[in-house]
Amino acid sequence: MLEKSDQATQIGHFINGAPIAGASGRTSPVYNPATGEVSGHVALANEAEIEATVAAARAAWPAWAATPPLRRARVMFKFKELLERDRKELSAIVTAEHGKVLSDADGEVQRGMEVVEFACGIPHLLKGEFTESVGTGIDAWSVRQPLGVVAGITPFNFPIMVPLWMIPVALATGNCFILKPSEKDPSAGLKIAALLAEAGLPPGVFSVLQGDRTAVEGLLAHPDIQAVSFVGSTPVAQAIYRGGTASGKRVQALGGAKNHLVVMPDADLDEAADALMGAAYGSAGERCMAISVAVAVGDSADKLISKLEPRVRALRIGPGTDPEAEMGPLVTREHRDRVSGYIGIGEKEGAKLVVDGRGVTLQGYEDGFFIGGTLFDNVTTDMRIYQEEIFGPVLAVVRTPDMAGAMRMINDHAFGNGVSLFTADGGAARDFANGIQVGMVGINIPIPVPMAFHSFGGWKQSMFGDHHMHGPEGVRFYTRYKAVTQRWPKGARRGAEFTMPTLGR
Ligand code: NAD
Repeated sequence: MLEKSDQATQIGHFINGAPIAGASGRTSPVYNPATGEVSGHVALANEAEIEATVAAARAAWPAWAATPPLRRARVMFKFKELLERDRKELSAIVTAEHGKVLSDADGEVQRGMEVVEFACGIPHLLKGEFTESVGTGIDAWSVRQPLGVVAGITPFNFPIMVPLWMIPVALATGNCFILKPSEKDPSAGLKIAALLAEAGLPPGVFSVLQGDRTAVEGLLAHPDIQAVSFVGSTPVAQAIYRGGTASGKRVQALGGAKNHLVVMPDADLDEAADALMGAAYGSAGERCMAISVAVAVGDSADKLISKLEPRVRALRIGPGTDPEAEMGPLVTREHRDRVSGYIGIGEKEGAKLVVDGRGVTLQGYEDGFFIGGTLFDNVTTDMRIYQEEIFGPVLAVVRTPDMAGAMRMINDHAFGNGVSLFTADGGAARDFANGIQVGMVGINIPIPVPMAFHSFGGWKQSMFGDHHMHGPEGVRFYTRYKAVTQRWPKGARRGAEFTMPTLGR
């Protein structure tokens, strides 16, 4: 194992408008997944650093909340311009620490930027509602106001896009935001901070606090944090939801997934196979919306397997910087070994291993965290490889006689993030979209990630909390509703009234 620690960079925090080195003395290694080398050491915050970050945000909040939404939106417009300007650099930062191919990293930057575009319209979204004359000479209106200091805790697999699901909406609605990025790819958050500062965001309004469990628990328990947005694995999401709500905070916690793509016998099978390839193996399966189960209905299974097998064998695997590569390495050696372990589990459970991705090595990248595309057939719902999230390039094909069986299986699954149906039958598609117990549904769309002006979130074990992310749900999550009723008395005083006010009479 190569560990060129001496050449590795120190990755610190961004607090109160400036980058700052870690002071705790604790760090975590950051890898280049393609080479296996340690490329950096990220600081892990201690109590004093958590306190300093929250204090800076609290101090900045009153002025930021009082800044007219139009001016806050102008910072977002500028931020969007800067993201465009540095788009290539942003993708390179993602690929260097995550490992995904550059074109995929660019896609994540694009999807993140779209949330910034949405936040540029915040004056319109905060307009509220007004009723003239709810009673004689009395008007009423409602507004949404910011919460205060809010925190976001994000996963390794989208170090730009997932933070940008949260940050633009939280800031534009008038909150101060503290980002705790994944310690596996912490540099993207710092680049976001630098661009926001360049866009004119005042110091303290956005901070990056690097860290591990200590930082997360410190933020969760801090009385000055009003709300927490979390995206990551289900056990942590659940713990964050419990801990945050127990200390009185508003929490949205998005968890893991096991997404199914149902292939009906009337579907265009070449199109379905292509869709499965991109959705199962893109980003090496490290997407919460990756398809990890293909449900082959009726006689579609054998035909589908025969189309998938050669495609999986032909997958072009390489470092994320190789423009020819379709799939890069996994994020860490430990994760690669975990995914390999699941392939062994699947074999032991009796699934048919059609393509085995274990043992892939690339010339010149022998220490990289690579694994090949893997395909299982005859997977059944009692198997761990069906029930558990593997988060790697492993596709399980489950066979079922009809759509009712497919829907039952999906509705019984613990996760409910995304799902997709490939069919030529509009009526079947309608029944499926209506009855499926999953938060995001695609019909002939393999990865139905909602656009920025809609909202993103799953059901069941894939999300804890009431509000999905970005779009209108994001605006609701980061604001509190206030109703004002107003009268300017004219004429004679009415004296004290002891009955319940009934304005409409
Ligand atoms: P993770 O749960 O290990 O980590 C997420 C964040 O929580 C990181 O910032 C990490 O530092 C922190 N963390 C980890 N363990 C913790 C603990 N015990 N206590 C407190 N904080 C802790 O997730 P990951 O491996 O970074 O990301 C992959 C997971 O995220 C997958 O399960 C994937 O499905 C999920 N994910 C879900 C969505 C979604 O929208 N539902 C989107 C992206 C990723």
